[in-house]
Amino acid sequence: MKTIIEPFRIKSVEPIVMTTREQRVGYLREAHYNLFGIPSRRVMIDLLTDSGTGAMSSEQWAGIMRGDESYAGAPSWFRFRDVIKRITGIQNILPTHQGRASERLLVEVMIGSGQGQGKIVPNNAHFDTTRANIEHSGCQTVDLLTPEGQNPAVDAPFKGNMNLTALQELLEDRADDVPFVMVTVTCNSIGGQPVSLENIKSVRELCDQYNKPLILDACRFAENAWFIKMREKGQNNRQVQDIARDLFELCDGATISAKKDGLVNIGGVLLIRNKALFEKASNLLILTEGFVTYGGLAGRDLEAMAIGFEEVLEADYLRYRIRSTEYLGEKLLEAGIAIVRPPGGHAIYIDAADFCPHIPKHQFPGQTLACALYEAGGIRSCEIGSVMMGEHAHMELVRLAIPRRTYTQSHIDYVIEIILNVKANAQKLPGYRIVEEPAALRHFTARFEPMF
Ligand SMILES: *Cc1c(COP(=O)(O)O)cnc(C)c1O
Repeated sequence: MKTIIEPFRIKSVEPIVMTTREQRVGYLREAHYNLFGIPSRRVMIDLLTDSGTGAMSSEQWAGIMRGDESYAGAPSWFRFRDVIKRITGIQNILPTHQGRASERLLVEVMIGSGQGQGKIVPNNAHFDTTRANIEHSGCQTVDLLTPEGQNPAVDAPFKGNMNLTALQELLEDRADDVPFVMVTVTCNSIGGQPVSLENIKSVRELCDQYNKPLILDACRFAENAWFIKMREKGQNNRQVQDIARDLFELCDGATISAKKDGLVNIGGVLLIRNKALFEKASNLLILTEGFVTYGGLAGRDLEAMAIGFEEVLEADYLRYRIRSTEYLGEKLLEAGIAIVRPPGGHAIYIDAADFCPHIPKHQFPGQTLACALYEAGGIRSCEIGSVMMGEHAHMELVRLAIPRRTYTQSHIDYVIEIILNVKANAQKLPGYRIVEEPAALRHFTARFEPMF
């Protein structure tokens, strides 16, 4: 069968407000050409992020109604705990309000707040909140990707893999300075590229050799497990649940944002095998998030997460999810548009420097493309280039992140059509200059002006 259909039908709809190009020209000017400043009602297809933007199932909404709001020991907590135990095999489970809360607790128990000077945490590539939380303790971070992982034009099955040689060298040189090793699945920072089971097993062996805990940033564990099933030798006949279980069995703990593969709008998980560290984290959770059976969430959120974590591992869902992202990437490649290859699990990244070759880096080609997609089609994307990263930007990318179970193929076909239309007249698009910017994280609030 060539056509893979969305494995759901729609029971509840949310209208998209249709706008005209003239209206959007005005909205863009009002927002000072910064897409973060545009109210979401003025966006037709919102591909800003896949985090917390997915659609819940009718079962999850039913769970929301069943949610028990008792302060301690609610049935919703036990359901959530049992699902996470079954999926991960890890007994020590804390609910948190989102991924970065899990990261904050992890850093506090494994490094100590303000105790990180002289230490360093390796990862295939840190997500920005993970890096910020670790560095907030004074600890350094380092990304150890393979050479192919750093080359967006190379098509390889597991570009998220940890560079094992570099990890071994780091552990050999500075074993005492490494509080733990982290692996992020899938690797968000390079476009949702997966890590192979074999690679994680080798990381585990190195961790054992140097007696280091291995922590999984498991935000997209189900998407990663599906890529392993599809691409890794000997894995194709296995259940995706078993592959996911293998990922967790190899680690000593995990941080998870349930806003991704938890299929919910808010929530997170922290897993720590070590009993003493888990107890320390539990006490901190009580101090700042909430009691251990709700962790800063409502009972109904735990119920929705319990159901979401099971639904995300259904083969029909994952086949559709990975294929629909790939479909967008494939169509763009066919039309000669340069993207980060191969298509990742949750997003497609367009190479804006290639899309608008007439715009120099300091006039922000990514900003040009992101504004043009909004003006032409009401599509909101995210610049990941010189606006966001300043002089640290290696590439000028525009990310199209795909919310889970939210848009249909015709929405994606519309996105493709708009991108191709914009491409046809790309040489006329203006560069941008920044007219006002804050001291840090300028991409959220900077004001721009087109340079016609
Ligand atoms: C989103 C994300 C986080 C942080 O989770 P939040 O829920 O946004 O706090 C951490 N790591 C990765 C890989 C992520 O994608």
